[in-house]
Amino acid sequence: MSESDMKLVVVGAGGRMGQTLIRVIHETPGVTLHAAIEREGSPFLGKDAGELSGVGPIGIAVTSDPLEAFLNAEGVVDFTAPAASVTFAGLAAQARIVHVIGTTGCSTADEEKFAAAGRHARVVKSGNMSLGVNLLSVLAKQAARALPADGWDIEIIEMHHKHKVDAPSGTALLLGEAAAEGRGIDLESQSVRVRDGHTGPRPAGTIGFATLRGGSVVGDHSVILAGEGELVTLSHSARDRSIFARGAVAAALWARDKKPGQYSMLDVLGLSN
Ligand code: NAP
Repeated sequence: MSESDMKLVVVGAGGRMGQTLIRVIHETPGVTLHAAIEREGSPFLGKDAGELSGVGPIGIAVTSDPLEAFLNAEGVVDFTAPAASVTFAGLAAQARIVHVIGTTGCSTADEEKFAAAGRHARVVKSGNMSLGVNLLSVLAKQAARALPADGWDIEIIEMHHKHKVDAPSGTALLLGEAAAEGRGIDLESQSVRVRDGHTGPRPAGTIGFATLRGGSVVGDHSVILAGEGELVTLSHSARDRSIFARGAVAAALWARDKKPGQYSMLDVLGLSN
């Protein structure tokens, strides 16, 4: 650890992503773990964050006081739950630090609160922090723009582990947004999220979603462009959740010297144009 290391707080430290983040921060030069936060009453409180994540003792105990931690840190990495991320956004704005948000399933009202927090904090939010998926979104946008809506139907299919609580995944929605942008349409009004029973024929120009859940799948996504007699499939398979943690840490480092505002992983990766 050196004096110039970026001091990061991990919230939701006991979660699947929280533990992965502690491990990745421990292994990544240029960043250091400042604090690990769990909610009041969590069985992880008081435990050593390093032991929790499998890297051995690092002398940082899990606590439940985020504001105290944020005021003395430069960034917070947050893969928790929508209500928790909204609370952390308010605190990160108060502390004027970097807030990297990986939490998915957030509502429009939550997004408005993140945008408000971006007046004081540097917020980087993405439904998927991996380089591969962000590249896939650029390719999906290009494909949707190139292949006309009256001959090519777009469907997005995803599979995740059985513990995932929101659907479709944040990544499926991110890919849907990219395809909708390519087509110049509004995803909200043009998406078909569920099909069941006598649905009638597929409305032209819509973007369909299908969700699979099971086992320990980290995250598989495909964007299918289905034309008459031919099919184009763009796919990504996440084999290890450390890809998201590495992306989140890269995002924190990228945002360190940026102005307050809201940014995406496309900004971090230089893929936004
Ligand atoms: P998880 O294992 O359930 O972990 C969530 C953690 O957040 C738990 O430790 C939970 O604590 C904690 N938490 C919830 N509310 C809290 C609060 N108010 N204060 C402090 N901690 C709180 O879930 P996960 O698989 O790690 O995923 C977390 C989120 O990240 C999900 O939304 C998931 O979709 C998303 N995700 C995003 C990406 C991406 O690249 N953007 C990648 C993977 C996952 P309790 O157990 O006490 O509730």
